[in-house]
Amino acid sequence: MLAEAVTATEQVPPFANTAVDGYAVRSADTVNVPVTLRVVGEVAAGAVPDAVVAPGTAIKIMTGAPLPDGCDAIVMVEDTVVTEAGTVEILKSASPGDAIRAAGSDVEVGTEVFGVGTRVTPMVEGVLATINARDVAVFRRVRVGVFSTGDELVDDGSPLAAGQIRESNRGMLVRLVEEAGAEAVDLGIVRDDEALLEAALRRAVDNDTCDALLTSGGVSMGDYDVVKAVLGRIADMSWFQIAMKPAKPFAFGTLESSDFRTVPIFGLPGNPVSSLMSFELIARPALRTMMGVVDAFRPRVRAIVDEDVPRKSDGKVHFDRVRARWGDDGRVHVVRTGAQGSHQLSPTASANAIMAVPDGEGVRAGDEVIITFLGPDSGPVSG
Ligand code: AMP
Ligand code: MG
Repeated sequence: MLAEAVTATEQVPPFANTAVDGYAVRSADTVNVPVTLRVVGEVAAGAVPDAVVAPGTAIKIMTGAPLPDGCDAIVMVEDTVVTEAGTVEILKSASPGDAIRAAGSDVEVGTEVFGVGTRVTPMVEGVLATINARDVAVFRRVRVGVFSTGDELVDDGSPLAAGQIRESNRGMLVRLVEEAGAEAVDLGIVRDDEALLEAALRRAVDNDTCDALLTSGGVSMGDYDVVKAVLGRIADMSWFQIAMKPAKPFAFGTLESSDFRTVPIFGLPGNPVSSLMSFELIARPALRTMMGVVDAFRPRVRAIVDEDVPRKSDGKVHFDRVRARWGDDGRVHVVRTGAQGSHQLSPTASANAIMAVPDGEGVRAGDEVIITFLGPDSGPVSG
């Protein structure tokens, strides 16, 4: 992310040049075609023209070569034929400016090419290279510590004992944090023990110098929701019941580090789908805003839902995982990718968007809905 605006100190292209391989001509000479012109020179990319295009003459020129004086158009080689050495026959009339790339026609000197908060995409890097902006200030990535909590979680591949489950949230969140453009610090599983959790939180902000923390689990109403207990004591927290499904429980607050930094904490719910949703819809835009990103949110578009999605009114917006594709009508269409329970992570793997189903009786096939893309491709699949 650029931390300062970048203004061009060089123009692009730096000089007028030809867009094609062909012949530099005076367009007035080509009004009546075919016409034969005398070839008085040749200029390649990187060379300097050593002749002038006078009336009745042409200079052979290669793509990217500077324009010789006297010419006002280029005729591409495909519209010419050489039948006699030292001459060229022009088969097609040229207008002034044809196939000429004017100096500064891409970027003019003094233009603010990029503003603060521009993400340095591969294309931005390309443009920075064209204007010789070799050193640019960027915001540091935020360091985001990721914990999961729970006595039932197993992440070492060992057989599951009674009551245990595989840990899935942390790896997913680490990848999501990285995909959001931040740096992830994997802080492991913390067991449901207040002293252990407090020590882990302090280590994360004081030793690992995290700029933000994501915790998963332990923020709902259960007796062993130790995240709630510990953060309630050592951090400045707000506890939310958000009018959305999944991901109703959510905690946000701040913890002060030993060097007096204010570290935001996002307490995500433990159910895997809820964890994913609250990351995508709440934590991700916040982390990106911390890094100065201007377009902090994922792309959001209107789409046509291709099936009935009934629901009951419960005061919440439901967010369903859907697959978005381009329809033959040129619009984006969606269907749900499977069961929508907050513990049912598998249908999210084939989803590429989240569909908002407003409170009420649901939506019907053919209705318009608003979807937010998920995942790095952020767009509908074709077909
Ligand atoms: P909690 O928010 O801690 O009450 O957890 C809610 C549900 O999510 C429980 O069924 C947990 O077992 C499950 N859960 C919590 N953390 C994880 C995790 N890291 N991976 C998979 N499931 C989890
Ligand atoms: Mg738990």
